[in-house]
Amino acid sequence: MAKIQAIRGMNDILPEQTPKWQYLEDTVRRVLQSYGYSEIRMPIVEQTELFKRSIGEVTDIVEKEMYTFEDRNGDSLTLRPEGTACCVRAAEQNGLLFNQTQKLWYCGPMFRHERPQKGRYRQFNQIGVECFGMQGPDIDAEMIIMTARFWTALGLLDNVTLQINSLGTSEARAEYKTALVTYLSGNLDALDDDSKKRLETNPLRILDSKNEGTQRVLDNAPDFSDYLDAESKEHFEKLLGLLDASGVGYEVNSRLVRGLDYYSKTVFEWVTSDLGAQGTVCAGGRYDGLVEQLGGKPTPGVGFAMGVERLILMLESLAKIPAEVNNSADIFIVAVGEGTQIEAFQLAEILRNEFLSLRVVTHCGGGSFKSQMKKADKSGAPVALIIGENEIKNKTVIVKPLRDLSQVEGLSDVNRHQVETPIRDVLDTIEGYLA
Ligand code: ATP
Ligand code: MG
Repeated sequence: MAKIQAIRGMNDILPEQTPKWQYLEDTVRRVLQSYGYSEIRMPIVEQTELFKRSIGEVTDIVEKEMYTFEDRNGDSLTLRPEGTACCVRAAEQNGLLFNQTQKLWYCGPMFRHERPQKGRYRQFNQIGVECFGMQGPDIDAEMIIMTARFWTALGLLDNVTLQINSLGTSEARAEYKTALVTYLSGNLDALDDDSKKRLETNPLRILDSKNEGTQRVLDNAPDFSDYLDAESKEHFEKLLGLLDASGVGYEVNSRLVRGLDYYSKTVFEWVTSDLGAQGTVCAGGRYDGLVEQLGGKPTPGVGFAMGVERLILMLESLAKIPAEVNNSADIFIVAVGEGTQIEAFQLAEILRNEFLSLRVVTHCGGGSFKSQMKKADKSGAPVALIIGENEIKNKTVIVKPLRDLSQVEGLSDVNRHQVETPIRDVLDTIEGYLA
């Protein structure tokens, strides 16, 4: 029978990869914790209407990327393509926005029907942050400073740059849109087909076009910064001042618009040149109108999301994953002969009680001494504990180094060799080997 395959663009994360994911997630979580942000967990499926109303009908996501289906009740549901709309929905529904501010984060899979390629998948993971009830620009700045700390903690700061822009109020955008459309309509022939279509549906997105001809036309297009309203301008300048004072470098990019309709004022992206075309690793901005647009009281919001897969690719290609990030065991227990398995289990439990962070692996599945020792070697553990029938009789255990310990610092000479130790002394003995 033909074997069933995973869906294209949806990947298994295999055991060899998961330590890297845990390392990334733990690092980011620690930073979020240190800024006082709280985790929220939302469902993966929402009503289709939520995304249509928030992301915008004429965006790439809603027009062609959503996984939308009818459930058995005939309701139109969608696998979430992003987290902001879900988070707004959850915060509003649960009263988290009533007379209070929130600093929230979440982490999990998102779904978009895109063409799969390196750094672009149909199921991918984001770590996202959303803050509510704060006008900024202090909170905008804090968020960006926090993202900079992520990169420092991960060793990526030298490989990313911050692009930032202000999209102003919707009135300022509307005025700019008119000017842009007028200008581009005069240069219609030089635009690519996609941009021609967008001229009618979502002209600001043309600024995003990767097409060279279109880019050349855009070089002389009206500049958004000339249309920015006074309030947004002040907000933006204060934000940049806070970033300057914090030593976070940035490039103001007045063509940065982002692909979702709900942004206002601040937008930003952290980009890298280390991933080819999929260079944005973190992106976000302010969305002061969104809560109201989804039926809540007017509430300012600002947030960002980062692509976990892209960050893992970066960590790998720049060799920034610490050596200790792996699945290696610390102690491997070999048991051969009558009655040895129960001793092995008991010993393992004692070790786990004592050394909470050690990975203690007990061999299961039987087999000869030789085959068990092979597994012990493969486990990556520096020491094996061996229990045979003799050791049970003598109430001892053999502690055997599995790699050459002659060069390891901090070990006493006796701990460089195999010893037989009374079982009651095993904790002390082991400690000697794990120096
Ligand atoms: P892109 O321009 O690369 O399509 P986007 O603007 O659609 O990105 P956002 O919706 O802002 O992306 O999502 C935030 C981050 O999530 C992106 O910067 C990226 O790191 C990641 N991301 C988005 N889409 C994908 C995908 N299909 N596969 C993997 N990561 C993704
Ligand atoms: Mg996209």
